[in-house]
Amino acid sequence: MTSPDTAPDSSPHTEPHPGPETGPGTVPTIDGSDLTDTQRAGNACAVCGKTWPRPTVLIGRLPDGRQLLICPEHATGSPP
Ligand SMILES: [Zn+2]
Repeated sequence: MTSPDTAPDSSPHTEPHPGPETGPGTVPTIDGSDLTDTQRAGNACAVCGKTWPRPTVLIGRLPDGRQLLICPEHATGSPP
């Protein structure tokens, strides 16, 4: 018998897919009603309230769009 040896679609499917949640604008919205004004301004850690060293890890945004920042040690999962 004759076997059809036609393979028109020989395109390699090696598509570089980025991570699921990378880039800005992927942080959750957090209701910061129980935070201080300094924390809501992004000038203090939203977890422990420290202002120095300044928090650098973005964990979320307030409903009005302001950023909430925490210390890097909280982001690693270590308790304060
Ligand atoms: Zn902190």
